[in-house]
Amino acid sequence: MLANKTALVTGSTSGIGLGIAKALARQGANIVLNGFGDAEGPKAEIAALGAKVAYHGADMSKPAEIEAMMAFAASTFGQVDILVNNAGIQHVARVEDFPVERWDAVIAINLSSAFHASRLALPAMLKSNWGRIINVASVHGLVGSAEKSAYVAAKHGIVGLTKVTALENATTGVTCNAICPGWVLTPLVQKQVDAKAAAQGISNADATRQLLGEKEPSTQFTTPEELGELAVFFCSPAGNNVRGVAWNMDGGWAAQ
Ligand code: NAD
Repeated sequence: MLANKTALVTGSTSGIGLGIAKALARQGANIVLNGFGDAEGPKAEIAALGAKVAYHGADMSKPAEIEAMMAFAASTFGQVDILVNNAGIQHVARVEDFPVERWDAVIAINLSSAFHASRLALPAMLKSNWGRIINVASVHGLVGSAEKSAYVAAKHGIVGLTKVTALENATTGVTCNAICPGWVLTPLVQKQVDAKAAAQGISNADATRQLLGEKEPSTQFTTPEELGELAVFFCSPAGNNVRGVAWNMDGGWAAQ
C-alpha cells in the first residue's frame, strides 16, 4: 500500500517508534529511522522486511539537527511523505521539585520537535498533495496524572498542534492525527515499573499489576504492533478524511 512512499519516524530505535516503523515497512514504505543507542539492530529489522532503510541520529531537542535530519531524508529518498513525531522522554516529580532543565528537555523533545519536523515536512507534502503527519501523543494528552507536569503539558500541547495542523491543511491531501496510547511496555515504562518496585519493596510483577490496575481498566498493555497498525490505518485511503483526531488506544483509561 505504501510502495514509493517514505516514512520518517523520530525516536524509532526502540519501543513504539520502532513498532510503527516496522508496520509502515511491511506496507512497502522506505523508512528513515532516528533515535539514540544501537541503530544497526533496528536497521536490520527493517531491512529484513524488504524495505529500504536509512538512519539519522539527530537530537530532537535541537532544531538545527532536526533541519539536518529532514534534509538528509529528502536527499536520500526524495521527500518525506509520512512523518511520525514519536520521540519522547519522561520525568516524574512534583511541580515544586521539578528540575527546570528536565522541564525544558521534555517540552523540547516531546512537543517542540514535532513543530520543527512538521514545518519542515509540510511544503513537500503540500506540493505532492499527499502527506500524513502522525503525532504520538499519549492518554496524557487527554487527561492528567500527578507528578507528570511537563509530560502532560507537552502531550496536551501536541494534541493541540495536531488539530491546528489538520485544520490548516483540511482542503488538501495532507492529514494530521494523533495516537494516544495508555501503558505500553517499552524501556520508558519499564523504568517507571522498576522505580515503583524499588520504592515499595515489591516484585516487578506486583509493580506491573499495580501500575496497570491504577489506570487501565483492561489491565493489559497496548503493544507497539497494535499502535503500528493504527498508523497504517491513518496512511490508508480509508484515512483520507480523518483529520485532527486524538485516537486513544488505552484499555479504557480515558473512558473513566
Ligand atoms: P522508548 O524510550 O522505548 O523510545 C523513545 C525513543 O525516543 C528512543 O528511540 C530514543 O532513543 C528516542 N529519543 C529519546 N530522546 C531523544 C532525542 N533527544 N532525540 C532523538 N531521539 C530521542 O519510549 P516509548 O515508550 O516507545 O515512547 C515513544 C513515544 O510514545 C513517546 O513520545 C512517549 O511519550 C509515547 N508514549 C509512550 C507510552 C508508553 O506507555 N510507553 C504511552 C503513551 C505515549
